[in-house]
Amino acid sequence: MHDVIVVGGGIGGAGVAALLAKQGRKVLLLEQHDKVGGRCASHEKEGFRIPDYGHAFTRGSGGNCALISRMVGEEIAWGRKVDGIPLWISGQWFKLTVGEGLKRPPRLQGMKLQPKDILALAKLVFVDTLPKLLTKRGWDELDRMDLRSWLLKRTDNAMLHALVGYCFPGFYVVPYWESSVGETLRILWLMWKAREISYPIEGCAGLTGAFLKGFKKYGGEFEQGKVRRIVVSGGKVQGVELEDGKLLEAPLVISNAGIRTTVQDLVGEEHFDKGYINYINNLKPSWSCLLIHAALKEKITDVPGVFSGPMEDPVEYWRRVERGEIPDKISLWAVSPSNWTPEIAPPGKQMMVLAAPLPTGENIDWNKWADKMLEAGEEIFPGLNENIMWKEAVGKEHIQENLDKEGVLVQTAQTNWQVGANRPSMISPINGLLYVGSDVGNAEKNRGVGVDMAAESALRCAEIVANKLGPVG
Ligand SMILES: Cc1cc2nc3c(=O)[nH]c(=O)nc-3n(C[C@H](O)[C@H](O)[C@H](O)COP(=O)(O)OP(=O)(O)OC[C@H]3O[C@@H](n4cnc5c(N)ncnc54)[C@H](O)[C@@H]3O)c2cc1C
Repeated sequence: MHDVIVVGGGIGGAGVAALLAKQGRKVLLLEQHDKVGGRCASHEKEGFRIPDYGHAFTRGSGGNCALISRMVGEEIAWGRKVDGIPLWISGQWFKLTVGEGLKRPPRLQGMKLQPKDILALAKLVFVDTLPKLLTKRGWDELDRMDLRSWLLKRTDNAMLHALVGYCFPGFYVVPYWESSVGETLRILWLMWKAREISYPIEGCAGLTGAFLKGFKKYGGEFEQGKVRRIVVSGGKVQGVELEDGKLLEAPLVISNAGIRTTVQDLVGEEHFDKGYINYINNLKPSWSCLLIHAALKEKITDVPGVFSGPMEDPVEYWRRVERGEIPDKISLWAVSPSNWTPEIAPPGKQMMVLAAPLPTGENIDWNKWADKMLEAGEEIFPGLNENIMWKEAVGKEHIQENLDKEGVLVQTAQTNWQVGANRPSMISPINGLLYVGSDVGNAEKNRGVGVDMAAESALRCAEIVANKLGPVG
């Protein structure tokens, strides 16, 4: 019998499995696919290391994935460090720098503002925000405040609203009237501390690849298998049942399958009280997105990635998208992994990933969206379309088929009512069942952007297990 069974080998699952194996525990990691990585996996095709979905890594070698890999003795090799995020609004380029210590705090390069807007921003930062950072109550208030209302307090400058309304949602894929000010500030703070955004040389697979290596080195067992059920009896976990009916016993199960999927499908609602089920059913997921992975025959740009948007009120824009309409000019987020690390593409060629955030509604015309994305990509990177050798489109159906029924980026969105103290706990009401992944948190500690957050949850989950089970031997 194993001490712990981990269901799912995403960043959270593979991360906690490696950390627990290092603690000396007998761990079984079960993953439904023949590779680990989940939302952060990659595959190879014609010399390109293509993300299965799409990524930029907000803290690179200063982040939680790097920390876990170091803790299990397996360094991740990172590519070029980028010190900021390029932004593009209706033909104008800006850059949000992540700063260089106290001498150069984060700032918006390329932005020309009227004196009244500079004054408004100064009041927003120095009067409305900085004093709140001094107390926990102030932080809680900022967590609950949405980005749009926060900005509107002092300015209705259309360019500032476009920048905040199209670009910041790129961190968590939530419209800006539901994004949390506190969470956004913490993301910027974490990026500022790490002073880099980067990309693994091995591609996305390099992250869980390192975790799995460490896991096996410390005696962990990996098995490909889909869990049909987490077996619970008398309010206590007994183990798991695989799709083929095989039963595996363990006193502790850690699920990386998503908190809602775990409760609704793997354990079953009958094992929880009504209040908890209501709470879980009412958690709001993030939006999804449509991705185009394009292999380019020539390098057309040095830009590592960009958040872009039109010069249109972001509320109007996102509401139209929510209704299933395709705006004439769309908001596109793009990453070119081969500009962070050339090993991602064959020499002279380029890998480009285009992403359009979309709700999960049924009335979405994916083909028309793909055409619009390529049109928007061409405007930002002239020559894009004529250089495409081949492309793959990946939408919410792919996520639903391969990961979970919701088809979203994060099962618990970082809305202004679901962050910090309000993030769902990693400790379930069932004795012996924990959750791990970017959709759960612990004692306000799970903050950041998807992958970094999932890795943070693995670190916290390993601490919970150590406290619960005590030292080995
Ligand atoms: C399109 C897209 C773009 C993104 N862009 C970024 C980005 O730029 N930066 C960033 O930091 N984050 C990004 N994210 C988010 C980030 O990828 C996720 O937040 C993070 O990888 C989630 O990790 P996780 O540990 O929560 O689990 P997941 O990645 O969801 O992994 C869960 C694992 O569990 C397995 N599993 C599920 N059910 C079972 C079962 N019953 N039995 C066995 N195994 C099971 C799945 O196969 C999967 O491997 C993006 C996500 C998507 C989809």
